[in-house]
Amino acid sequence: MKTYIVGNWKLNFNVGEASIYLHKLQRKMPNYRDVEVVVAPSAVALQPLSLQIDRHKMKLAAQNAFYRDYGAYTGEISFAQLRGLVDYCIIGHSERRHIFGEDDKMIQKKVAAAIRNKIKPILCIGETESERGFGETADVIRDQLVGGLADVSEEDIDKVLIAYEPVWAISSTKAAKMASPDEVAEVVDLVRSVLGELYGEKVAKETAVLFGGSVNPSNAGAYLTVPGVNGLLIGGASLILSEFTDIIETAKRVRA
Ligand code: PEP
Repeated sequence: MKTYIVGNWKLNFNVGEASIYLHKLQRKMPNYRDVEVVVAPSAVALQPLSLQIDRHKMKLAAQNAFYRDYGAYTGEISFAQLRGLVDYCIIGHSERRHIFGEDDKMIQKKVAAAIRNKIKPILCIGETESERGFGETADVIRDQLVGGLADVSEEDIDKVLIAYEPVWAISSTKAAKMASPDEVAEVVDLVRSVLGELYGEKVAKETAVLFGGSVNPSNAGAYLTVPGVNGLLIGGASLILSEFTDIIETAKRVRA
């Protein structure tokens, strides 16, 4: 399986800045066949960047989209409109869940809409600090997985990537803490066992499971060597070219 390094630019970079960053990133990066590099710019930059991107080197992801393909949904962008522009879409990011009120039902529909439109969903799941404190981590992870995947058939599950992002470890969370490799390993294990219950052992083994939460060049190696982790979802550090390329190099080294 490939190692996935996904940069989530969130609400940063205007179109010009995004284009310059992509230009520099592509110039700096060789084509690593076993490392799939993905960048997720804001929606306005997707169309121009889709013309600029060297798809042999990296892929584009959307950060969000709406589950209806078309219709009277003012302000929304659909997966149908993104079809052909992006290969991936981040779905259910904790900022979407907690700031914009997305629930598992909506996330379930978005995952299905992405697959329907040939876009691979990166389904984000993760517990908050208080959920962890109350010992609810396993229940939250199980509910978010079962909910998010409710419409995904056995035939389509190989298109889905899972990203475990403990909300308390995301750098934008006040007083974010670093997750320990052991904490990550425990939840990734649980993710795979839930996948096994839903789809069987092969899927449990073969689904890409990423980790995200304050990943930087100094801790990337430790997270990438957690058993069962197939890649990283990176916010803050993906905005700094030298840090992002360092993490990509680390992924390459870890695989070698
Ligand atoms: C994220 O928001 O997906 C994320 C992991 O952010 P950061 O790397 O900044 O913690």
